[in-house]
Amino acid sequence: MEGPVCQVAWGCYVLLAISIGAHCAMSSDNLACPSTSDLRTQPVAALDKEGIGPAMTSIPMIACSTSLSEHHSGGSGTNKNKQMVEQLQRYGVISSKKVVEVMETIDRALFVPDGTPAYVDSPMAIGYNATISAPHMHATCLQLLEENLQPGMHALDVGSGTGYLTACFATMVGPQGRAIGVEHIPELVASSIKNIEKSAAASPLKGGSLSVHAGDGREGWPEHAPYDAIHVGAAAPEIPQPLIDQLKPGGRMVIPVGKIFQDLQVVDKNLDGSVSIRSETAVRYVPLTSRDAQLKGY
Ligand code: SAH
Repeated sequence: MEGPVCQVAWGCYVLLAISIGAHCAMSSDNLACPSTSDLRTQPVAALDKEGIGPAMTSIPMIACSTSLSEHHSGGSGTNKNKQMVEQLQRYGVISSKKVVEVMETIDRALFVPDGTPAYVDSPMAIGYNATISAPHMHATCLQLLEENLQPGMHALDVGSGTGYLTACFATMVGPQGRAIGVEHIPELVASSIKNIEKSAAASPLKGGSLSVHAGDGREGWPEHAPYDAIHVGAAAPEIPQPLIDQLKPGGRMVIPVGKIFQDLQVVDKNLDGSVSIRSETAVRYVPLTSRDAQLKGY
């Protein structure tokens, strides 16, 4: 083929390759990367009033290189975090200025276990059969919830894990707002609080507009309901009714729904109290389940 025909064919091929790549990047979240994995030991922070002592646990660490990682070979942590965010913008995952700002403000490296490549666009094991979501999924969820994370608003992060998104929410809603994390593994609650204390969200934590609680997130957190924004970081077989009940009219919930095949669903509560649901994209998250089932490996 020659001339324009050849160019069109080549253009189509490149577009196809890009769209396949983008789909692969976008569609897996808490899915373990099937490449090299090795076992390392993650120290878990000493726990607080819950009465559980310090513990050590072995977690599978996933060595998984993606296009984002190629750009993170040098510079300080803050610079690398910024480069990660720039790369997500370049790939079209982030288009919102506010999401850029918050992801630049909250350094992801403070939330991943020591020795984990913080800026690689992949979920990473955090122990207890849980993961920190991939940067592109954090970005996608922040962007879907952006309008419901305005200063003064209330946000609930169910399955808050490392506390990364709870910290982002607190930064966006500001000191007059409220960001609540609910996580059912008390050790993760304790380590997430330590992560947040090291981050730019330390002051909302200290000031009380950010808090993380141990509990079953399927029940929500009624104390600070109704919420303008609810994020669920684990896949529910179906949308838990208490979460719909705790959504404010005009509020939005982003929740992965399904078992093997999962969709990231966007649930909007209309002003008359009715609910509209749409699917954003196919995803793969760890299940929203009982603590026992999770610790037994589901
Ligand atoms: N979004 C978080 C964590 C995602 S992993 C982050 O990026 O760091 C999903 C989390 O949901 C895990 O920490 C898991 O322990 C938690 N989880 C699963 N079922 C839960 C439930 N019923 N209640 C509260 N947390 C739950």
